Amino acid sequence: MKKAEHLLICLTEECAELQQAISKALRFGLDDGNPNGTTTNAQDIIRECLDVTALIELITDDEAIVESPSTEEAFKAIKEKKEKVKKYMDYAIKRGTLEREYVYDDSDSFADWEKG
Ligand SMILES: [Mg+2]
Repeated sequence: MKKAEHLLICLTEECAELQQAISKALRFGLDDGNPNGTTTNAQDIIRECLDVTALIELITDDEAIVESPSTEEAFKAIKEKKEKVKKYMDYAIKRGTLEREYVYDDSDSFADWEKG
């Protein structure tokens, strides 16, 4: 097995752990957590996001594996993704599958996220 393959497998594992943490939060709540653990589901999601980020950095730090985007390209891609998600949140509100008050209510955390 080559280094690239090994790191890509590690990335898939971390993505699966992130999926599991998100699934637990959606099933039982962000403020809940494993009764045998010391962290909340929200904290587990952040931890797994950081694990995924670490693997992405290991992969993009090695130009033999993948050519890393420039900082400008990375910020542009992130900005475009945020705009796309917001656009589809508006569409979901129009479709009635997303409740408007959870996006635009100033007292809600999603509203802070919406403001960027
Ligand atoms: Mg992990």
